[in-house]
Amino acid sequence: MPIHNRIAAFHDEMTAWRRDLHAHPELAFQEVRTAKVVAEKLAAFGVDEIHTGLATTGVVGVIRGSEPGAGAIGLRADMDALPIHEETGAPYASTNPGVMHACGHDGHTTMLLGAARYLAETRNFAGTVYLFFQPAEEFGGGAEVMIKEGLFERFPADRVFGLHNWPKAPAGTFMWRTGPVMAAVAGIDITITGKGAHGAMPNLGVDPVLVGAHVITALQGIVARNLDPVDSGVISITWLEGGFAHNVIPETVRLRGTARWLSREVGDLLERRTIETAENIARAFGATAKAEFHRAYPATVNEPESTALARAAAIAVQGEARVAEMPRPTMGGEDFAFMLERKPGAYLMLGGGRGEDDPAVHHPKYDFNDEILPVGASWFATLAEQLLPRAARP
Ligand SMILES: [Zn+2]
Ligand SMILES: [Zn+2]
Repeated sequence: MPIHNRIAAFHDEMTAWRRDLHAHPELAFQEVRTAKVVAEKLAAFGVDEIHTGLATTGVVGVIRGSEPGAGAIGLRADMDALPIHEETGAPYASTNPGVMHACGHDGHTTMLLGAARYLAETRNFAGTVYLFFQPAEEFGGGAEVMIKEGLFERFPADRVFGLHNWPKAPAGTFMWRTGPVMAAVAGIDITITGKGAHGAMPNLGVDPVLVGAHVITALQGIVARNLDPVDSGVISITWLEGGFAHNVIPETVRLRGTARWLSREVGDLLERRTIETAENIARAFGATAKAEFHRAYPATVNEPESTALARAAAIAVQGEARVAEMPRPTMGGEDFAFMLERKPGAYLMLGGGRGEDDPAVHHPKYDFNDEILPVGASWFATLAEQLLPRAARP
């Protein structure tokens, strides 16, 4: 692969770092060992400043170029794992039962470490590179917590960039997209209260199970009938809880699920109609519903100029043939969205697929493809060199 030669030269070392992180996965805001490993490596590479303890376990490295400059960019990787029991059978499989790097954040962290090593060694840029190693992407919005703790006041990047590996695309293929690239996320929580009764005498009660069934069905009418057919939105009720015996109508039923959308207007519509639908359907049956719509992550929206810069860096690393436009966004969520709300920037996908049967992220048999480590590291490094150019030499 036409990547930075200096980075290719330590591909084996990066693979060893990645597998070490893989063997020691940690959940959101508990990335204590991971943060320690990151900070130790940054120190060994000669990074100018290392700040730890942001959002509990976040780490920020600062590298200054060989020339002074007013420009600064932020490069971001996520560090957390998932509550999944690993089934890869890899020799470096998780040693932390029930916790697994099933989304490849071990790979993202390693790619940014690789870029840090190269940039600290070569410093072929003018200005400042901030390395943002964030906790808690999967749950808890670590990026938002870092921002609330003053990330951009302390480390004022002009633009921010990140990437996610994508096992369903060929290894080494970059995918870019302007505008929304991933969806906004909300949790739905509905409690329906009726009146408990004997299962044989429903007329003496108000059956919340039946109400719940009607609410679930009616909620599917929101996307189908209220949303402009050209817009995108999802409502999924994924969790249904209630009852305890064959012959008892319970007092309450709880429904939970998720909603996804790409634009603020659609998010507002889904929220308003979810609450109206649940409450009014319940009322029609003589029950009550308390519906909550908890917004978690905003949509991940790529700013056009930054996307063009990110694409140019990808072409410099992999060539035009392996850089493609994503035909449409995915409805998955991503907390880099919080950084993109504050700063212009872009979030790219980097294919990591080995073949048709490659498990998707969040699968117990998924494993990050080490082949793409130098590709991602080179992309981060190229962004720094292209966006923070040194003065032309006479
Ligand atoms: Zn994930
Ligand atoms: Zn992920």
